[in-house]
Amino acid sequence: MTCANAPYVARDLAHVWHPCTQMKDHEQVPLIPIRRGSGAWLEDYAGKRYLDAVSSWWVNLFGHANPRINAAVRAQLETLEQVILAGFTHEPVIALSEELVAVAPPGLTRCFYADNGSSAVEVAMKMSFHYWRNVGRTDKRRFITLTNSYHGETLGALAVGNVELYKEIYRPLLMDVITVPSPDCYQRAAGTTWAEHSRAQFVHMEAALARHAHEAAAVIVEPLVQCAGGMRMYDPVYLTLLREACDRHRVHLIADEIAVGFGRTGTLFACEQAGIRPDLMCLSKGLTGGYLPLSVVMTTEPLYAAFYDEYVKLNAFLHSHSFTGNPLACAAARATLAIFREDRVLERNRALAAHLGARARELEEHPHVAEVRQRGMIVAIEMVQDKTRRRPYPWQERRGLTIYRHALERGVLLRPVGNVVYFMPPYVVTPQEIDLMVEVAREGLGLATCA
Ligand code: PMP
Repeated sequence: MTCANAPYVARDLAHVWHPCTQMKDHEQVPLIPIRRGSGAWLEDYAGKRYLDAVSSWWVNLFGHANPRINAAVRAQLETLEQVILAGFTHEPVIALSEELVAVAPPGLTRCFYADNGSSAVEVAMKMSFHYWRNVGRTDKRRFITLTNSYHGETLGALAVGNVELYKEIYRPLLMDVITVPSPDCYQRAAGTTWAEHSRAQFVHMEAALARHAHEAAAVIVEPLVQCAGGMRMYDPVYLTLLREACDRHRVHLIADEIAVGFGRTGTLFACEQAGIRPDLMCLSKGLTGGYLPLSVVMTTEPLYAAFYDEYVKLNAFLHSHSFTGNPLACAAARATLAIFREDRVLERNRALAAHLGARARELEEHPHVAEVRQRGMIVAIEMVQDKTRRRPYPWQERRGLTIYRHALERGVLLRPVGNVVYFMPPYVVTPQEIDLMVEVAREGLGLATCA
């Protein structure tokens, strides 16, 4: 470890318990203290720089220390840092809500705020359940979810998720959900298109809806990309079919766009590619450009109306978080939306995504790469032991960690999910930086698969 970092690492390891980490790993794996960020780069206390190829857990859109977002937060800080949002309001949350309604799928006109993704998922689930109760359907209280999905770590969100690594231990604490096979196109038969596979997989969802609609409040999905589940992707036709079936069976559709929203998949929201409007849409991460914790659940007038009543009927949605709709976070979110409007971000991303995809697809030739897949600004590389049979490496071998460590040495932050190496860079990344990411991933794959 470089010596300028050492004092910070020692102080950190004395008290900080890190997220999603076996702390003993840090006996071997370096902990990197970051002194500053700029654009797509992070810099440690020794002056070493790291290209943030994972957008700091998929949140950063327009770079670290972005001057426009900085200015907006700074200006807001001078006037109001926080105020209770029950009984009170403020301009940043009013204006942000207007702006979100203007860009969201038409019909999502009501914004309920929380302060992280998992909480937004909890809000959406409680709202859906409570809606049905308010309209007299107390029997509708179960949720339908897809295998390999991820919706967060709080107990409700974990229950509708399906990544065993995070879920298994806590199973005794979790509500029972209805789990349907994912349309994940990595599983498709050779010669089958994404659309054909996704459409064929819908039979399972149709069957689950037919069987459980009477007791189901909502179906929850990550539109187009199951991110934490290894960046597994599917075709928009699945969402189109799902919207129609949810309507027919009178079950809500919750779109968890926490990771895929704000341009990640090529459109501002992934649902747009299927031309659908969910009943509830969860947003977080990129909502503030990755600056501050904020999340929102957007929903429709009919759903809102079912809660609008005399207080004594106890139909209100009595859910709250202390920092709900924080003004600083709303200011960062407004500055982020302004950049989308002013800079033609989605158009510029198309060229970047084309370059990213073209360079990454060169890795398809690698003897231990089974697939390189892409949706917009997300590219994933499936590393396998046996390419022809698509047999994965045992997870215990932790080959992704070899790639992570090599990339750090080379000044790139890549953080594979299991055996899946992926790129999800900030939109300010340059073609040259993309070339560096891909090159370092290629070297890492070589090292991770050589024995
Ligand atoms: N849903 C999805 C699709 C996510 O990717 C995540 C975070 N990775 C969450 C929910 C949870 O968000 P948070 O970490 O802010 O609780």
